[in-house]
Amino acid sequence: MGATTPGFVCAHHHLYSTLARGMPSPPQTPTNFISVLKQVWWRLDAALDLDMVYWSAKLGAAEALMSGTTCIIDHHESPNAIDGSLSLIRQACEEVGVRVNVAYGVTDRWRDDGSSVDSVSPGSAMTKGARIGLEENRRALQSGHAAMVGVHASFTVSDETLHAASDLASEFGVGVHIHVAEGRDDAGAADRLRDLARDNWLIIHGVHLKEPLPGTLIHNPRSNMNNSVGYAHPHRSSMPVALGTDGIGADMPEEARVAFARLREADLTASADTISQWIERSRELFPASRNDVVTWNYDHVDSIWHLMYTPGTRPTSIVSDGRLILDNGLPTLVDIDEVRSKAAQQAKRLHERLAA
Ligand SMILES: [Zn+2]
Repeated sequence: MGATTPGFVCAHHHLYSTLARGMPSPPQTPTNFISVLKQVWWRLDAALDLDMVYWSAKLGAAEALMSGTTCIIDHHESPNAIDGSLSLIRQACEEVGVRVNVAYGVTDRWRDDGSSVDSVSPGSAMTKGARIGLEENRRALQSGHAAMVGVHASFTVSDETLHAASDLASEFGVGVHIHVAEGRDDAGAADRLRDLARDNWLIIHGVHLKEPLPGTLIHNPRSNMNNSVGYAHPHRSSMPVALGTDGIGADMPEEARVAFARLREADLTASADTISQWIERSRELFPASRNDVVTWNYDHVDSIWHLMYTPGTRPTSIVSDGRLILDNGLPTLVDIDEVRSKAAQQAKRLHERLAA
């Protein structure tokens, strides 16, 4: 017994953050959005090497699969290990059986002399790091596999870099995957994106977005709460809405429950059907998810009201393109104990670097 559903889609992930759990505390306690980026994420991504990127992605993909998430739209950054990073993430996901759409988040926040800045003036020149990041995006697009063009956020790129990213996306007929107005400091992002954004862009967060933009708004409720950036009120937006995790795992049924709890906190009259629409929009962004058949340990996962009020639902098996990739709740293509063990070794190396 047990319901079956298509695969779930995580419409915004950072697979590189899988190894962040248990990392050493930052040197100073962050007190606002920018200091969270500076004290946690920008230290973490700068410490990554390609071995860490690979095992972080592999563990993240395996855990996604064990949650019923078969498709991940990833946004990657490893400024000291850019070349080849996207093909390693793809390889790690494919070895697990998870479909992935990759993008490298270009940024000008690292200056050519190795120093970094919190925000980048629009008129400044493109940095070497952004150029290498754009090349990594181009390589992924040329491979013919699923990919987009990643931009970190408009406040960390120059106009030159932003336009180059937009042009590259147009050249390959894909969208740009970009963080927008996550914190108040980036509330003016729409001014620079209004004339560039297209319907195939992924607008991540939009918590402080003052006007709708072309593209899909990707809502990451747990991350927004974790970073205390406020509530996006996605149900009020005229933009289509999909769900992501922003790197806090890829358990999409769980993220959907968090989204529902947050929605009901803001509006008691809100229906779970709204969450259902967001899940379906996520699948539209990754249509191959409908080729995946997930069988659950609970009979009514296909009912959104059951799903919202039944914590702990788990997939028992997953068939993807006719291939059994999860059986008895465990991945069949990789040994999960080995993946956990190898990832733990890389996490140890990473945490030692961060403590130094
Ligand atoms: Zn993100």
